[in-house]
Amino acid sequence: MALEKMKKGNAVFTDKFKENEKLYHDLVENGQHPKVLWVGCSDSRVVPEFTVNANAGDLFVIRNIANIIPPKDADEICTSSVLEYAVLHLNVGHIVICGHTGCGGINALIDGTPEDSKIHDWLKYAHLAKETAKNSGTNSLELETIKENIFLQANNLITFDYIEKKQKKDEIKIHKWLYDMHTGKISFFDDFKKDWFPLN
Ligand SMILES: [Zn+2]
Repeated sequence: MALEKMKKGNAVFTDKFKENEKLYHDLVENGQHPKVLWVGCSDSRVVPEFTVNANAGDLFVIRNIANIIPPKDADEICTSSVLEYAVLHLNVGHIVICGHTGCGGINALIDGTPEDSKIHDWLKYAHLAKETAKNSGTNSLELETIKENIFLQANNLITFDYIEKKQKKDEIKIHKWLYDMHTGKISFFDDFKKDWFPLN
């Protein structure tokens, strides 16, 4: 998308803004009260708000390569500060870890990246997912690693004691979702049935 298109795009958006003036006005006057923290991939093809038809104010979002939440001990300030704000200040009731098919970050993890790159440094937080997928004997290492990475990042969330406490008290729910780029459909992992099911 060239810059010219973005300039025109903002003109289109400001028209929509006027059409939805009450929504945007309320968000300014009353502040934001999103119920959901969305952890997604930076991939331009997977736009959280589009995939669940969300409005402004609905989702508090963090996106990075391969939808990663480093564990508490890693002391990664960007992700941990987002968690802290969303959970302790906005009091979101849900955290969605949403991975996606065809994830370039996961493919880079599988294929390997130069050791002196920042991407290599970042993907170490998903390394265990690759190992677990490899050991599962799957015939689809890519898809299995994508799924294992969702599990791994969901587990990393509860290394933060305030999230673990809220989860135990049922004040926060952690959701493991997988977006299919071929269909636009999302699947969720059912912790009791131990399998993936369509979201709708
Ligand atoms: Zn991705």
